[in-house]
Amino acid sequence: MTHILIIGAGECGARAAFALREKGFGGGITLIGAEPHLPYERPPLSKDSLAEASLPKFIAGAARYGEARIAVLTGAAAKSIERARKTVTLFDGRSLDYDGLLLATGARPRAFPGVPENAGRIRMLRTHADALAIRGALTPGARLAVIGGGFIGLELAATARRLGAEVVLVEGSPRVLSRCVPEEIAAFVAERHRREGVEIICGAQIAAIEEGGDGARLMLSGGARIEAELVVVGIGAVPNTELAQAAGLAIENGIAVDERLCTSDPDIYAAGDCCSFPLRHYGGRRVRLEAWRNAQDQGALAAANLIGAGEVLSSVPWFWSDQYEYTLQIAGLADGAQTTVRRDMEEGAFILFHLDREGRLIAASGIGPGNSVARDIRLAEMLIAAGAKPDPLALASPETRLKKLLAA
Ligand code: FAD
Ligand code: NAP
Repeated sequence: MTHILIIGAGECGARAAFALREKGFGGGITLIGAEPHLPYERPPLSKDSLAEASLPKFIAGAARYGEARIAVLTGAAAKSIERARKTVTLFDGRSLDYDGLLLATGARPRAFPGVPENAGRIRMLRTHADALAIRGALTPGARLAVIGGGFIGLELAATARRLGAEVVLVEGSPRVLSRCVPEEIAAFVAERHRREGVEIICGAQIAAIEEGGDGARLMLSGGARIEAELVVVGIGAVPNTELAQAAGLAIENGIAVDERLCTSDPDIYAAGDCCSFPLRHYGGRRVRLEAWRNAQDQGALAAANLIGAGEVLSSVPWFWSDQYEYTLQIAGLADGAQTTVRRDMEEGAFILFHLDREGRLIAASGIGPGNSVARDIRLAEMLIAAGAKPDPLALASPETRLKKLLAA
């Protein structure tokens, strides 16, 4: 293996590039990124970076790529993959040969039907440029309308309040965070937002979004009209699979990979937000995760396997969200839970443990100020990975140390 090409200079692509060197790969590494910057962290875009309007939080400085002999091509988008010749062609006409290829193309925001543009007073949030455009409108007293009560919408609402903007959030489902957060935690989050003055409207259908003058407006199907200086659409993400699809790779809610992250072509791997994979610990069901740690773990694993390690993915899904003084953390997947038990902790923090019908712990969802649930969620993650069947009463009791259950 002499040259590994990575398409997508995000969390996953950057991690994979450094992991290749850490694992002793001595050949050439080229990281191709469509954005004009070196790889940066996305989570701060809806949190601190947005509030501070700072530079992107770079994953590494230019010197570190130089030291690791990683060639980073920024502002360079891959146009096509010619698998038979093992060549990638860029939109600027350059072509690059590879022995091994990693697709880490991530995801993009789902556009609101009929409003494909991310411009003017109707915006989406995925990149540093998006965050800067949104930040400009979040002045004290300005009115922000958010469509979607998922992570983008709620984190953005919290940051906008911090900046003094007024926020109305419109969600299509009967409640916020309906995708992978238990109702009890979603209700806690919604209540915190309402206390902050955020108006949350659930179960609402948007008939139209209009832009004009120095504002934009949402028309709800019941006839209500919401005026705002800025509308941000946060209604989910779609995986960037077009390049892989055009190259004839298998696609199944993302670029389909096996448990080693190999696509239907043995020389091409895919990892991060763009791929779907069989999830160990959950009967091998195929999922696509849109989470920061998954992008890191999969980047490292794909790197190892590109140079022949043959390792399988075994991590438990995990993600976090920061809103106001609270951090929410979820380990595992709770759908399929038969029983849920609640552990109340200090400072109003709590964790829900989700068990399947055999009594196996399959997920844990917690929320509390700062890092209050972090340690126990970490231990729960280890219990999930071990396939543990802990006593529900022990889980519910704050007196029982999870470490003890793990040892058992
Ligand atoms: P991406 O970060 O999307 O990177 C993919 C890169 O590939 C992009 O730069 C894209 O431009 C580039 N690319 C695509 N196609 C091509 C091409 N053809 N040629 C060249 N380059 C290409 N997760 C959490 O767990 N917790 C959080 O608190 C959290 N907060 C978030 C906040 C925001 C605002 C956003 C947007 C995401 C957040 N996430 C969070 C999710 C997390 O950031 C993603 O899961 C992670 O960034 C995925 O990494 P990735 O490298 O797979 O994809
Ligand atoms: P998301 O978490 O999927 O949430 C989208 C929300 O919008 C859902 O509640 C969805 O409801 C709702 N929705 C969909 N269509 C709608 C419509 N027409 N009108 C009103 N509401 C509608 O996606 P997101 O919040 O947009 O986040 C985008 C990406 O950024 C994801 O990859 C996400 O993981 C990532 N991100 C992650 C974090 C984090 O992990 N902390 C933070 C920010 C961003 P239904 O479920 O009913 O469709």
